[in-house]
Amino acid sequence: MRNKLVGGNWKMNGGLAANAALLVALSAGWKARPDRQIAVCVPFPYLAQARDVLADTPIAWGAQDLSAHAAGAYTGDVSGGMIVEFGCRYVLAGHSERRQHHGESDAVVAAKTKAALASGLRPIACVGETLAEREAGQWQSVVGRQFETVAEALGRDLPLITLAYEPVWAIGTGRTATPEQAQEVHAFLRERLVRKGAEGVLVLYGGSVKAANASALFAQRDVDGALVGGASLVATEFLGIANA
Ligand code: PEP
Repeated sequence: MRNKLVGGNWKMNGGLAANAALLVALSAGWKARPDRQIAVCVPFPYLAQARDVLADTPIAWGAQDLSAHAAGAYTGDVSGGMIVEFGCRYVLAGHSERRQHHGESDAVVAAKTKAALASGLRPIACVGETLAEREAGQWQSVVGRQFETVAEALGRDLPLITLAYEPVWAIGTGRTATPEQAQEVHAFLRERLVRKGAEGVLVLYGGSVKAANASALFAQRDVDGALVGGASLVATEFLGIANA
């Protein structure tokens, strides 16, 4: 039985005062459990704040992106080594909003995932198809291609990552994949992971997860937790999902 991970992706939301209230509410409300971990991925400027509030709690923290490069003339970018200095455990790689708004290709996402591991971070590599791709019956080829690019780049390090299946059509839309739809894709990914000797990799589901739908998703055999956007900004919702 794999443990579960519930990660919050704050996206580009927050402010010092609102974050303090949210982080304090999370740390007050979350009791450590041996079978699951929770984490928040916050905007870069708030990494120190997350560290200061969460340091002595069972809640981990992380970032939402990193550079594929270790250092150099990459204005505006942030390296894995910098993120690690703030005590982060996790970093997202290849969130669909990065792919969509910043043109991140599969190769760039794979390079970022590799850079995260090289820095000592645990990357959460995101894959997922658009609505047009799903409607065209292409989810297997899209998700398979995204996954294989990461797997090929990592080679023997594949077991060290976490995957998140995030159908683009379910992110921030209120339209969650049904538990059966999620399970179908997770089983597809699980089968590929097993073939590569990486059966221990957690596969999270992301896309309009809420406290009300989390239990049904988590009941699926191959759903190992969630990556949560909007609902991670509300402590009661996020804790409700984490305890589902
Ligand atoms: C996300 O940003 O990773 C996400 C899943 O967003 P939401 O939960 O808001 O759909």
